[in-house]
Amino acid sequence: MTYDFCVLGGGIVGVATAHRLLRTRPGASLVLVDKEPRLGAHQTGHNSGVIHSGIYYPPGSLKARLCRAGARWTKEFAAANDIPFRECGKLLVATDPVEDERLRALYRRSIDNDVRVDAVDAAELKRREPHVRGVSALFVPDTGIIDYTRVTAALAAQVEAMGGEIRLGTPVEAISETDAAVTVSGPAGSITARTLVVCGGLQADRLARAAGIRTDFRIVPFRGEYYRLPADRAELVSTLIYPVPDPALPFLGVHLSPTIDGELTVGPNAVLGLAREGYPKGSVNRRDALEVFGFPGFHRVAREHVRTGARELRNSLFKRGYLAECRKYCPELTRADLLPHRAGIRAQAVLRDGTLVHDFLIERTPRSIHVLNAPSPAATSAMPIAKYLVEQLFAA
Ligand SMILES: Cc1cc2nc3c(=O)[nH]c(=O)nc-3n(C[C@H](O)[C@H](O)[C@H](O)COP(=O)(O)OP(=O)(O)OC[C@H]3O[C@@H](n4cnc5c(N)ncnc54)[C@H](O)[C@@H]3O)c2cc1C
Repeated sequence: MTYDFCVLGGGIVGVATAHRLLRTRPGASLVLVDKEPRLGAHQTGHNSGVIHSGIYYPPGSLKARLCRAGARWTKEFAAANDIPFRECGKLLVATDPVEDERLRALYRRSIDNDVRVDAVDAAELKRREPHVRGVSALFVPDTGIIDYTRVTAALAAQVEAMGGEIRLGTPVEAISETDAAVTVSGPAGSITARTLVVCGGLQADRLARAAGIRTDFRIVPFRGEYYRLPADRAELVSTLIYPVPDPALPFLGVHLSPTIDGELTVGPNAVLGLAREGYPKGSVNRRDALEVFGFPGFHRVAREHVRTGARELRNSLFKRGYLAECRKYCPELTRADLLPHRAGIRAQAVLRDGTLVHDFLIERTPRSIHVLNAPSPAATSAMPIAKYLVEQLFAA
């Protein structure tokens, strides 16, 4: 049989896209495949669970546009489907004059991006969060928390209710496209569809190469390691507490995050990963490591960010450094507060010339569309990304 649509990737972006396709074309035949035995096994199931509001991103970028809509849609979808979420808001905290200057730039950007923020001075910060200190802060009231695996599961249940098929444990190794159809194949057999959507996250570059498109970038895995605070510290803060990010990097910095399940986590750092899907510390996958070190773009990034890279590595190896990052804005944290917690691994696209791709990156062929770079805030933005992909497909 030839399906109307095949979606490759059962993370939140793939599942949201399958959902959008079936809502746009009711009655179409659709199959979604993922190599893992469960949906959301990679980035979607290993993140901070923050519903971002979209303040950071350059106005007009896909991230700025799709994140703002995504925050709204995620909350509406959650409310309609009994998925717990909380609009706890977030405080971005500057701890010195350099960060204060960057915070002012973020304030202007949030206005350009039409995102509500309140400027907060040091005294007001102390009143709102007595355990946090800083010279100034921005409060973003629309930021929230949720569990994205629950959103993915609810979207998937609706995909199946609309007649879509979900095949787990189905790795794809080859993709071939003709004028009439696209076929994906692997050890579990072949699937042919008139249209293919690829949302492969950490494997996006390999799937693009398998399809014969864009070979000028690699996915570089950046581990994000978290700690969890003891239960009696879970109410240390009531909002999300973020540092002011370095605008040259696509990462937001180690933050204190209440989770929807009542925990308080701190993290994630951003340290080079030597295994795209190896979560325990010290994981190495020979193929993944050789591909990173053999890629000229990685060497350029490493040279440009050598100091940041060294600091992140040190903080990953030694708890003391990690703790120092958090103590800048929450001085009373101690080593004993940092309990082991799971890590996530970000799929970050890097171009051959060493450009870290900040925005979402999408590439089309006549019968397929590939999401090549969908880092944070792609969980927040998944539903508008899906709408955008479907519009691109049907615009042809
Ligand atoms: C540490 C960390 C913190 C983050 N925090 C946030 C946050 O707070 N808020 C936010 O909005 N975003 C956050 N993100 C980003 C967010 O998690 C991702 O952008 C989002 O989950 C991407 O979804 P995806 O579907 O593209 O990728 P994934 O969830 O990685 O899904 C890709 C899927 O493709 C499948 N696949 C890959 N190759 C194959 C193959 N060959 N055959 C079959 N299946 C295949 C994989 O098994 C996987 O299930 C964070 C990410 C990380 C890592």
